[in-house]
Amino acid sequence: MHDPVICLDENLKVIFANEEARNITGLRQDEILGKYTQELAERNDLIRSLLQDLMAKESENNVKPEPIRIYADNKEGYFEKEILHISITPTGEKTKQLIGHVIILRNITEHKELDFAKTNFIATVSHEFKTPISSIKMSLQLLEKDEIGKLNEEQRNLIHSINDDATRLLKITGELLNMTQVESGNIQLSIFPADLKEILLYAINATKTQADQKQIQFEINCPDNISNVQADNEKTAWVLTNLISNAIRYSYDNSIIYLSIQQAKNQVQISVRDTGQGIAPQYKDKIFDRYFRVPGTKKEGTGLGLAISKEFIEAQGGRITVESEFGAGSTFTLTLNKTT
Ligand code: ADP
Repeated sequence: MHDPVICLDENLKVIFANEEARNITGLRQDEILGKYTQELAERNDLIRSLLQDLMAKESENNVKPEPIRIYADNKEGYFEKEILHISITPTGEKTKQLIGHVIILRNITEHKELDFAKTNFIATVSHEFKTPISSIKMSLQLLEKDEIGKLNEEQRNLIHSINDDATRLLKITGELLNMTQVESGNIQLSIFPADLKEILLYAINATKTQADQKQIQFEINCPDNISNVQADNEKTAWVLTNLISNAIRYSYDNSIIYLSIQQAKNQVQISVRDTGQGIAPQYKDKIFDRYFRVPGTKKEGTGLGLAISKEFIEAQGGRITVESEFGAGSTFTLTLNKTT
């Protein structure tokens, strides 16, 4: 096998370790074979981490361990751990008996490298797109001014739709750029005490035109004296704008969007409730996955907004959740920690 494999008996003594496994642990055959992992773990970081996973695995079976980064043979590699617990039923007996464990480390370095290359590529392309699209929008604004020359009705309509398309392109490139920050683990946060009500008012302002187009009203419920939260103003405003924009896109004309802020002991919650089509139960958890869109969704979009929102909010120590009654609407709630 080209992947590292380590076999342990029921007492966690190493009974087999192939050459690849010896390479990445940096241990010679006589240093690893026949030794107890508990002893090896004292001096070997990798064995310690594997042992921790092995113990954790027995109690919480469903947790998928993160890939590990290992530096061996003068290069960095990524490995996915798989731990198999081996049991047999001895002849003549009925109960199963644990006889050992097999640890397989699947080398995923090549996939990781491709993934990095893809993230870099998307980052570069979306970054390069931003400037020309912004300048298209600026030129359109100039064209709309009478000083340059009067436009007839048809020309004005054309400019209007070019502007809509440019806004949409700018939104997509912005989402892709944010996604690359998330994927490369480079979310740059500046966390300070922030006023959620102010952020909410900013988000309402940013989505006002979109709401007017569908004659949607906002109903705001916000008690006085809300405590400040520990948050990155800009990122939280981005998330809230995205949630309100979704609420507008996925609800019907002439409806109401309810925005409310509530205080708990150590946290402040802000929720965005719409009375739109809602989300079917089987998709409730999936909507936070990257590029996921509920099948049949007709509105344009990338399926990235909620995935980015989740990462942004969790990076600030907060939470984002959704409650939805299919056919009756959805409520998205952000929970952020109060300033201490
Ligand atoms: P996008 O809206 O660009 O597709 P999002 O990540 O914001 O991407 O949302 C993912 C999916 O979740 C959407 O495609 C839509 O199917 C569903 N969704 C999001 N918000 C709502 C909402 N308020 N009501 C109903 N469905 C929603």
